[in-house]
Amino acid sequence: MRRYFLLLLTLITVGLITQSASADDNNSSLPTNYFNQDAEDASSNDFSFNDSDQTPNNQKLAIPQNTPTPLEGIRWRKRTILIYMRTTDPQLKAAFRSAVKKWNQVKVIKIKWTKNEDKANIIATDSDLSAHTSNNGVGYQTAQLGETKTEYNPDTHELQKATSILDPYQLDYTNPNFRSEVAQHELGHALGLAHAPEYEHSVMVPRNIRNGITKQDRKSIRLLYQ
Ligand SMILES: [Zn+2]
Repeated sequence: MRRYFLLLLTLITVGLITQSASADDNNSSLPTNYFNQDAEDASSNDFSFNDSDQTPNNQKLAIPQNTPTPLEGIRWRKRTILIYMRTTDPQLKAAFRSAVKKWNQVKVIKIKWTKNEDKANIIATDSDLSAHTSNNGVGYQTAQLGETKTEYNPDTHELQKATSILDPYQLDYTNPNFRSEVAQHELGHALGLAHAPEYEHSVMVPRNIRNGITKQDRKSIRLLYQ
């Protein structure tokens, strides 16, 4: 089991890429980084939330400075965030469900499960991350337990989409509590948290995960979303 304390969790922040076929349209002053969401919403969505009408979507989101747990500088515009369970692995589903409950206990954001993948802000999925395994330069191999990719609008700091991935093979022989903590870490990225230094008491310490969401993590999420 000690082996797992050496494993590395990596955030992959994928910058929003908007070089689509309609790149010429991007010259308008309105943010055009919503890809196809508008089309999807218009065609299929009789029950859409209307809260997007209340705030202009091109308004820059404030990101606080000096939070106890570092931030990526991005966040969701709404505090109700929809998540879709794409993995069918029972252990990973349990881990994601547990992690969602833990983050919701902060009481500032509400992560809600949706059965509509198209509407989801966060995708909870699995992948064999061993292809990413690399030598970290200090003499031993590291492997990822999880990974989160985020897409965001760099002008407004607004998260558009996050995909949190857990590796079913790396996590197979760990215990449910540890798997939940890894899922809490990945969802932390999906909410806008960055890695915390090793000496801090945070779920966002990238290696050597030894705890779930801490007081400083809760405080940071409060500062980010309140
Ligand atoms: Zn990480």
